[in-house]
Amino acid sequence: MTSPSILIAGASIAGPVLAYWLRRYGMNPVVVERAPDLRLGGQTVDLRGAGKDVVYRMGLERQVHERTTREEGIHFLDESGQIRASLGADDFGGEGPIAGVEILRGELASMLYEHTRHETEYLFGDRVESLHQEDDKVQVRLLNGGERTFDLVIAADGTRSKTRDLVFGAGTELRFLGGYAAYFTIPRVDSDGTWARACALPDGRSVLLRPDNLGTTRALLTYLSSNPGHDKLDPRAQKDMLQRLFAHAGWETPRVLAEMEHSPDFYLQGITQIRMPCWSRGRVAVVGDAAYAPSGVTGMGTTLALVGAYILAGELARYRDSHQAAFASYEALMRPYVTRTQHLPPGIPRLANPRTRLGIKVFHSVLRSATHPLVTRALGKVLRPPADTLQLPDYSALDRRAAAFERAEDAEGVSAGA
Ligand SMILES: Cc1cc2nc3c(=O)[nH]c(=O)nc-3n(C[C@H](O)[C@H](O)[C@H](O)COP(=O)(O)OP(=O)(O)OC[C@H]3O[C@@H](n4cnc5c(N)ncnc54)[C@H](O)[C@@H]3O)c2cc1C
Repeated sequence: MTSPSILIAGASIAGPVLAYWLRRYGMNPVVVERAPDLRLGGQTVDLRGAGKDVVYRMGLERQVHERTTREEGIHFLDESGQIRASLGADDFGGEGPIAGVEILRGELASMLYEHTRHETEYLFGDRVESLHQEDDKVQVRLLNGGERTFDLVIAADGTRSKTRDLVFGAGTELRFLGGYAAYFTIPRVDSDGTWARACALPDGRSVLLRPDNLGTTRALLTYLSSNPGHDKLDPRAQKDMLQRLFAHAGWETPRVLAEMEHSPDFYLQGITQIRMPCWSRGRVAVVGDAAYAPSGVTGMGTTLALVGAYILAGELARYRDSHQAAFASYEALMRPYVTRTQHLPPGIPRLANPRTRLGIKVFHSVLRSATHPLVTRALGKVLRPPADTLQLPDYSALDRRAAAFERAEDAEGVSAGA
C-alpha cells in the first residue's frame, strides 16, 4: 500500500482527530458527515489524561485553554438549595468529577475541524449507504456522492453508528445501564455563578447546571428507569415525560423545566455502553463511541475517542503495508484501556442517583469526605476515571518517515512528468 485513501464516517471528535494524524503520516483521509454542517451542540466534555495529551500533541494546547468553561468545581445541593458538599476542579489532581480541562463539545469539535479542513476533504450532508469489500479495496456508495473507492473505511459515527452496522450487523452490544440523561442549554441567571451545581432528588432523579464560557448555562436532567426506548420517542413526548417526572421537585427545577420548552438543542439519550468483540472486519474498523462508548457516567467518552483515533492512525502508519496488522495492534493497545473504563463499580449509576432522602444524605456525606486520603483511595475508581492509565505511544519517528515518503512521491511525480 503506498499512500492509502481512507474514508472516515463522522465529523465530531474521533473523525477529525483520526483525519489529522493520518494526514500527518502522509495518508489521504476523506470525512463524510451525515449532518449538513458541523454539529456544534452538546454540553461540557472532559479532556483527561492521555486524551488531553493527544490534543496537545496536535498543537492545540493554547486554544483549548482559551476556550475552557473555567468551572471552579461542583457544589452538591439539597432541594432547599443548601450546599451539602463541594469538589474543586483541582481536587484529585484535576482528574475528579470536574476535570481540570472542561470544554464545550461544540467548541472542541469546531477547533478540530478548523485544524484539519484545509488538508482533508469533508463531505457534509452525506453518508455511506452501502459498501462492498474486495481483496484490495472497498467500494463505497454514498447517498449523494455516488460510488467511490477507498483502501480502508473507518466508522467514527457515534453510538448509533450506521456505518458500523452495515459491516458488523448484530455483532454489537448496546448495553443499557438503566437510566437516561437529557441535555439542553438555558439562559444564564445570577445564581449560575462559576461552579457547577448538582441537586439530587428522590426517586433517582437529579438536576445539574453548569456555567459555560458562552454566557449560557448547560442543564442536565438524569433519571433512573429500567425501560429501554425513551431515546427513540420524539422530543415532544420526551419533554412531556420529563415535565411529569420532575413536577413538584424543589430547588431551581421549575426554572429548568420552563426553559427546557424553548431550548434550541434539547436531546435525550440512554445511559448506554457499546461493546464489540472485535473492532475491525476486513478493511473496515471502528473508533470512538461507535466502537466503545463508555456511557456519560464515566466522563471518558471524549478521552477514549481522542486516544483511539490517535492510536489507530499511528498503527496504520507503523504497519503501512498491512492494515490487518495495524488493526490488530490498535486493538491490542487500546482494549485494556477501554475495558478498564467500561468496567463500572457495582451499583453505578444507581449509587450516584439515590432513591430515598436518607440515601441522598448518605451520598452527600460520602462526597463531603471524598478528598480525605482514605476515602479517596476507597472511591478512587468512582471519582477519578482511569484516564492516565495508558501511556500514549510515541509515533514521532513515523512523522519523519511520512515526510521522507512525501518527498519521494513528489520527486517521482516530477521525474514522471519530465
Ligand atoms: C451533537 C452532539 C452532542 C453531544 N453532546 C454531548 C454531551 O453533552 N455530553 C457528552 O458527554 N457527550 C456528548 N456527545 C457525545 C460525545 O461527542 C462523544 O461521546 C465523544 O466525544 C466521542 O465522540 P465520537 O466522535 O466518537 O462520536 P460522536 O460525538 O457521537 O459523533 C458522531 C458523528 O457522526 C455523525 N454521524 C452519525 N451517523 C452518521 C452516518 N451514518 N454517516 C456519517 N456521519 C454520521 C454524527 O452527526 C456526529 O457528528 C455529543 C455528540 C453529538 C454528535
